[in-house]
Amino acid sequence: MTIATELPANNPAAAPGPEAASTQRPAADAPITMLNPDFPFSYDHYLAHPDGLGSVPPELYGTEVAVVGAGLSGLVTAYELMKLGLRPVIYEADRIGGRLRTASFPSAPGVVADLGGMRFPVSGKAFYHYVDLLGLQTQEFPNPLAPSTSSTVIELAGQKHYASTPADLPPFFREVADAWKAAVNDGARFSEMQDAIRARDTARIKEIWNELLPLMDEQTFYGFIAASESFREAGFAHREAFGQVGFGTGGWDTDFPNSILEILRVVYTDADDQHRLIAGGAQRLPEALWQHAPSGMAHWPEGTSLASLHSGSPRGAVDRIGRDANGDLRLRERWGREASYPAVVTTCQSWLLSTRIHTEEALFPAELWTAIERSHYMQSSKTFVMVDRPFWKDTDPATGRDVLSMTLTDRLNRATYLLDDGPDKPAVILLSYTWNDDALKWLALDADQRVELMLHSLEQIYPGVDIASHIIGQPITVSWEADPNFMGAFKANLPGHYRYQQRLFTHFKQDKLPEGQRGIFLAGDDVSFTAGWAEGAVTTGLNAVWGVVNHLGGHSAAANPGPGELLDALGPISLD
Ligand SMILES: Cc1cc2nc3c(=O)[nH]c(=O)nc-3n(C[C@H](O)[C@H](O)[C@H](O)COP(=O)(O)OP(=O)(O)OC[C@H]3O[C@@H](n4cnc5c(N)ncnc54)[C@H](O)[C@@H]3O)c2cc1C
Repeated sequence: MTIATELPANNPAAAPGPEAASTQRPAADAPITMLNPDFPFSYDHYLAHPDGLGSVPPELYGTEVAVVGAGLSGLVTAYELMKLGLRPVIYEADRIGGRLRTASFPSAPGVVADLGGMRFPVSGKAFYHYVDLLGLQTQEFPNPLAPSTSSTVIELAGQKHYASTPADLPPFFREVADAWKAAVNDGARFSEMQDAIRARDTARIKEIWNELLPLMDEQTFYGFIAASESFREAGFAHREAFGQVGFGTGGWDTDFPNSILEILRVVYTDADDQHRLIAGGAQRLPEALWQHAPSGMAHWPEGTSLASLHSGSPRGAVDRIGRDANGDLRLRERWGREASYPAVVTTCQSWLLSTRIHTEEALFPAELWTAIERSHYMQSSKTFVMVDRPFWKDTDPATGRDVLSMTLTDRLNRATYLLDDGPDKPAVILLSYTWNDDALKWLALDADQRVELMLHSLEQIYPGVDIASHIIGQPITVSWEADPNFMGAFKANLPGHYRYQQRLFTHFKQDKLPEGQRGIFLAGDDVSFTAGWAEGAVTTGLNAVWGVVNHLGGHSAAANPGPGELLDALGPISLD
């Protein structure tokens, strides 16, 4: 359980200049960033560098590059390619935003629900580079026990605990939190790794991680905690409560079968801590990237934006990717239009390349196809209702407590979040946010059936609180695995999958590939080492930009080496 410390400033501080990349700051006061141990490249410094992300020869200005997907990764890719003077051509099967999807309640369009990404750790500096650039406002997300969360209820096996701060919980929960802290310190050198990340000491990060990797790759999350001395001594009840309550964001037991490497990447980089939401909804970020006209671009006149280059709409869904005789890559849209490009970036979930798009097999090495096919995606479901006002802030006269709290439970709902924008206005309850088996329980049910069951669970926890009487409008629900343009919520590797992720992540550097396999680049959060976090969508988009620029004959700025220049030195090691 993360006990949130201090509130961050509205948005994280702007990244320091390039020279800071090599400056070792004192570990104690430097912030944790999502400096992923597999490739601790400072994307925030790279983005902030005055020399920019490189250049292409002027004769290539206006060259079209296809970008498949208008989620965050595709839009970051397209935005940066446009700034370099290339002409991105975006294809999108559904709507701009992808898994940063914000739904409005029809009767009150200003009241919104984030169906995919909703809370963004301040350590995700590349993500916040764009949030700040586009002037989006953020607020603290009401996570369990977060400073801005008025109260939290943890209800396990019928026992209810009410807390305004972590100190209000019984000592048992402190023991669970301590057991987890000890487990990651003893088994995965947590504090050492965080010190190295704070100092941006890439050599130290790699040294620690490269030693741990072979030991951890075949270990599940559950196997890791069950084998730890602290949880062994504490006993099963502590392991069970840890799974149900977790740390920071809620229960993590649906992640128990996943590789412990996935969990370590999250906790080392504080991805589970200090979350903020985007005011007005997360979809504002991709929409703003689509509309924004950056100044000082190569080639394009002032006022050019992705929206203007596309006359207002991306092209349609891609259903075939092949290669022309002259080496160009050829895309066919669902309704037949075809076009060829010297380079293509795909940002949809990578297994859609075989399930939804006829992708010529020869475009990728066989071992990359294996990595794509063996990828493991999590399921996820969310159900929201709009209510007349944030009535949960009312005080129960009998107990002096809030009538309803942010709730973690072992019942069907698992986690209930309360979201409001001030008193006397409609507010939103995220009745249930679930993953995997818990999400599958909802899959066959329609929105009303889901809400009925969720309200029933909450009635057991809050007898006498008539939540239903506050509901207005229709519920909004999503199961990401049921949407053919996603087929899952986000990737989470199983034990033994490190090799697959390494292949996917490093594919953007293509110097060792045969000619016939160059020019098509994979991006998107599932290609990153931090799937399920928008930071990975941004950073793999930047990798793809580097790949396209180099493929076309351009290069990075001499003083600002890009991810491809540093991949061999800092990149993920091979286990073979
Ligand atoms: C339930 C859920 C909760 C999440 N919570 C968080 C969170 O709290 N914090 C956080 O940081 N991240 C979170 N994430 C992850 C975050 O949403 C993603 O990292 C990010 O949105 C991924 O962006 P992307 O561009 O890589 O992929 P996507 O958003 O999936 O974009 C890919 C795009 O490709 C399109 N596409 C698919 N097929 C085709 C085709 N054939 N032709 C053309 N286009 C196609 C899709 O429609 C989509 O728009 C969450 C995700 C989910 C699902």
